[in-house]
Amino acid sequence: MNIILLGPPGAGKGTQAKRLERDYGIPQLATGDMLRAAVASGSELGQQAKKVMDAGELMPDDLMVRMIEDRISQPDCQNGFILDGFPRTTAQAEALDQMLRKRGASLDHVIELKVEEESLVDRITGRYSCAKCGAGYHDRYQAPKVEGVCDYCGSTEFKRREDDNEETVRSRMQAYRDQTAPILPYYHEQGKLKQVDGMADIDEVTGQIKRILDGKA
Ligand code: ADP
Ligand code: ADP
Ligand code: ZN
Repeated sequence: MNIILLGPPGAGKGTQAKRLERDYGIPQLATGDMLRAAVASGSELGQQAKKVMDAGELMPDDLMVRMIEDRISQPDCQNGFILDGFPRTTAQAEALDQMLRKRGASLDHVIELKVEEESLVDRITGRYSCAKCGAGYHDRYQAPKVEGVCDYCGSTEFKRREDDNEETVRSRMQAYRDQTAPILPYYHEQGKLKQVDGMADIDEVTGQIKRILDGKA
């Protein structure tokens, strides 16, 4: 099953992708995480990515398309994948269709998480994650069961993203409106776009997505 989770920064894509990864056994492909790994490695790509991400802008399409093509060629993607953060432009969406066609594959579902804009800043400025396993948390909406201890791996170290500040968030939302939202009609015309209420609580959103994936919605 090949799925895309679409939505503005902070909509809940990563949170839901991690749950689906666990429950459906197909990997989350998060281009933002791949870029952050490049930044941490200090590579040339990482240096470029850091500048672009700090400005809340988008990386060049050709580079991102190559990154995803390499990733979906790996054996763990044989039974499908969950795209989180890709495609972000119409050019990326078209390139994705082309690379899937070349492999005799196609997209099954494109799921849009709809969230009111006022909530996004709140979600993003309170976001943090486990430094060891990457599990996502929120200061108010998704605290670990035991304060200061990761639910999944027991780590007591957490981190926040440098671009999760209010100023960068505004640029990222603008990039979403200008460059990413135009993909929605592209998938709508293909009959693949499904919408879920991203304002609902996290379990309820997961339930809505699973009903779509299981063919019950
Ligand atoms: P968010 O959680 O806000 O949706 P991501 O972690 O997906 O953010 O992405 C962080 C940043 O990485 C983006 O603001 C952008 O600069 C860059 N990025 C990630 N994916 C892409 C992509 N597919 N195309 C271009 N830039 C990307
Ligand atoms: P994205 O990957 O789309 O940028 P995340 O999944 O990282 O978004 O979610 C952003 C923040 O909002 C995280 O701190 C997460 O814990 C929180 N969050 C995610 N989904 C919900 C929800 N349905 N209700 C409240 N908070 C949420
Ligand atoms: Zn952890």
